[in-house]
Amino acid sequence: MVSVEMLEKLCNACGVAGREEEVRILMRKMLKPYVDEVREDRLGNVIGIKEGEKNAPKVMLAGHMDEIGLLVKTVSKEGYLQFAKIGGIDDRVLLAQKVLVYTEKGPLHGIIGSKPPHIQKEEERKKVITYDELFIDIGAASQDEAKKMGVRIGDVVEFDVKFAAISKDIAIGKAFDDRVGCAAMVEAMKRLENTQCTIYAVGTVQEEVGARGATTSAFGIYPDVGLALDVTVAGDIPGVREVDAPTKLKKGPSLTVTDSLHISHPKVLRLLTEAADENKIPYQLEAGLPGGTDAGRITLAREGVPSCSICIPTRYIHSPTSLLSLTDVENTVKLTVAAIKKIPKYF
Ligand SMILES: [Zn+2]
Repeated sequence: MVSVEMLEKLCNACGVAGREEEVRILMRKMLKPYVDEVREDRLGNVIGIKEGEKNAPKVMLAGHMDEIGLLVKTVSKEGYLQFAKIGGIDDRVLLAQKVLVYTEKGPLHGIIGSKPPHIQKEEERKKVITYDELFIDIGAASQDEAKKMGVRIGDVVEFDVKFAAISKDIAIGKAFDDRVGCAAMVEAMKRLENTQCTIYAVGTVQEEVGARGATTSAFGIYPDVGLALDVTVAGDIPGVREVDAPTKLKKGPSLTVTDSLHISHPKVLRLLTEAADENKIPYQLEAGLPGGTDAGRITLAREGVPSCSICIPTRYIHSPTSLLSLTDVENTVKLTVAAIKKIPKYF
């Protein structure tokens, strides 16, 4: 099984897109024992390289280190912080959240303020309050005090949620998108001791704002095959139609046939489904859904890279707390390992 302790550390770290330092430090440390070299490129992608046999295919694994979050936009005269959103966040989940504002002097606790129901008008209760009408209260009495506390324009803000394993199989926490992909990648590298392929395990930056780290790292590496380890919407919750989100929890990793950014390469898709069947690993398929992963950018590197996403079903992604099954994580690792071992037969 993937180490729960490793997943917990990764999820509790702050890595709002463009500010992935805490996660980067962890990823360097976690990859080190299982690769020949760990390097970092100019944008901050962490690249663990495990040398394989001469002339064997080069494989790039990608797990994005960044998460969605907020960014301080202005500090009001009264000391409240107005913010911008980084990545896709539903305004309705912001209200009353506990947050951490990452300043140069360290993190500050805050809450996203809202008007109590007692003083709301009838119409106000029915309407969604958009993010630009909300503010973060850090307890500062003025703009000056907020500045003295260390707040600067552009400081990142993350949801103040801690990881918890709520049963043997189920975990809840912040930033499973995509720290669970990072954890699965490290675990896969641990199990890939003897393989022909040279493997590049890449912790990418800025996926949530357009897969920017995957774009540059794939250009540099120019692999023969790309596999993005990410999460996908688990739609097995009340009110969701199967056609909108067919992936379910505990049914294994979901292979993305198509999304908004990518049409998976048929050879890579076949490699994955055959590896799953041969090793009796459950998997799901999803097609025609919005969204995208690093695979959509890896595939466009230079003359093109055959790629696919292997996604861990996760409920409530892009909200402060999500939920997943550790068995799905284990099956994702198994499939990744089995597929990489088969790559020399295909490419
Ligand atoms: Zn993701």
